[in-house]
Amino acid sequence: MRFLKFNFLYLFLLSLLYNKLFALEENDELVEATDFKVANGKARTPFPDWLKRITGLYQWPGLDPPYIPLDFIDLSKIPDFGPYSLGFCANVPREACSFDCHGCMGHDEIFTCRKLSQTFDDGPTPATLRLLDSLDHETTFFNLGVNIVEHPDIYHRIQDDGHLIGSHTWSHRYLPALSNKEIIAQIEWGIWAMNATGHHIPKWWRPPYGGIDNRVRHITRLFGLQAVVWNHDTLDWKFASGDPSVSLEEILGRVHDWNRDKTGLILEHDSKETTVDIALRVKDIIGEDQLTVAECAGGNDYIREYD
Ligand SMILES: [Zn+2]
Repeated sequence: MRFLKFNFLYLFLLSLLYNKLFALEENDELVEATDFKVANGKARTPFPDWLKRITGLYQWPGLDPPYIPLDFIDLSKIPDFGPYSLGFCANVPREACSFDCHGCMGHDEIFTCRKLSQTFDDGPTPATLRLLDSLDHETTFFNLGVNIVEHPDIYHRIQDDGHLIGSHTWSHRYLPALSNKEIIAQIEWGIWAMNATGHHIPKWWRPPYGGIDNRVRHITRLFGLQAVVWNHDTLDWKFASGDPSVSLEEILGRVHDWNRDKTGLILEHDSKETTVDIALRVKDIIGEDQLTVAECAGGNDYIREYD
């Protein structure tokens, strides 16, 4: 009896500590990165019992989720590259096989498609709905865990419309700058958001900022994930941020160029109304004859689905 009481007290104190350290605060500021915004603090997907058992926690974490050890990950086997910051490529060795620094890719990575196809990162957001309304073909979304648990209704709409959803991590950190445990946390919480909200396990994921190297690759492969990068970048996020070096005419001109040979994978975003405006213009140029990433790769959509 005394043991039980102690356990209860211990859990209670632990949950207080957790709330102090990690829990979402009401009315948090919008967090801005170079190409996305997440409104942190309004998780609406219920925190499921199975996740309480795995993590010992009681609610969704904030933007820097806690590392939860998993028995299939041996930390001692992870290659020793980095950490290094976004844009600081000078000291990154070629053996790291960095995509964003050197354009290097793993043998299992997807970067192009036999039909020119759009893909959309950083959702789900309220702007996603107008994109969904306009689509007559199935497309691919790479969603952020924090946005999934904030907009489960929009996530379900993406699922119901038959689109492919991959993970874009929990909160869009540049993974090569993180410790191994921080990378694992970004990946596991991103997957758990999809498990809890959509009752499926992702097969595909896209690294934020294209930040993948052999260290990140080793970790994500342990989760059964296959990375998807791109070979055409609209720079829609740069235009949406008001950068005068990118004009709408230039963006659409590039899409016309890509549309000549009708192949490739285009990086776009459903994070803002402005980027969705561009997505609709791009779709008008390419048309609806597009593929999902799974179709591009000839692979399956999900490892498995469950209720
Ligand atoms: Zn992104």
